[in-house]
Amino acid sequence: MKDELNKNEVVNKIKRTLELFQAKNPCGGGKITLIDRRYVMLSTDYFPFDITRDLEEIFNAAGDTLLYKGGERIGKDLYAHYLPMARTYGVDIWDIISAVGWFFGWGTGTVIESGENDGRYRIRVYDSFEADSFLKRAGNTEKPVCHFMRGVLNGIVESIEGRKYSSKEDKCLAKGDGFCEFVFEPFK
Ligand SMILES: [Zn+2]
Repeated sequence: MKDELNKNEVVNKIKRTLELFQAKNPCGGGKITLIDRRYVMLSTDYFPFDITRDLEEIFNAAGDTLLYKGGERIGKDLYAHYLPMARTYGVDIWDIISAVGWFFGWGTGTVIESGENDGRYRIRVYDSFEADSFLKRAGNTEKPVCHFMRGVLNGIVESIEGRKYSSKEDKCLAKGDGFCEFVFEPFK
């Protein structure tokens, strides 16, 4: 119950952030756009479950690392892309990332810890699309599955902090937790 309440608060904040940007980029003409970028939609019936399974078949356990690495690169790009906008609009970069992720259905994300304890970050994501894709196709898993999402978030954290971080997914919807939660700690 408490977590549901928290999720509603997160969504309300996200909607306020989105109002700043939506007027700027109306969708239409066969294109989905938001804040100067074009997007496409893929069904979680296939994505990312199928690509993850293919990567596992071809590269064995290294498939997770490939997804993670690709995510990290995207996270760094997201930071570079949205930082100027965060400054222009006086919005926290995490609020923009969270709003864009929510708008395009990646999930409902919120930052629980942001470096105040030994540089550690803790980020919660409700309804992760990555976990949902696995749940739909493979049912509950024993290990967390959101490697791409973890990579994206780690890329953002490293960009903000300007140093290397290690990451793990503490809780995952796909292994029966109520949400996904990621912890990021600076390399010692
Ligand atoms: Zn997860």
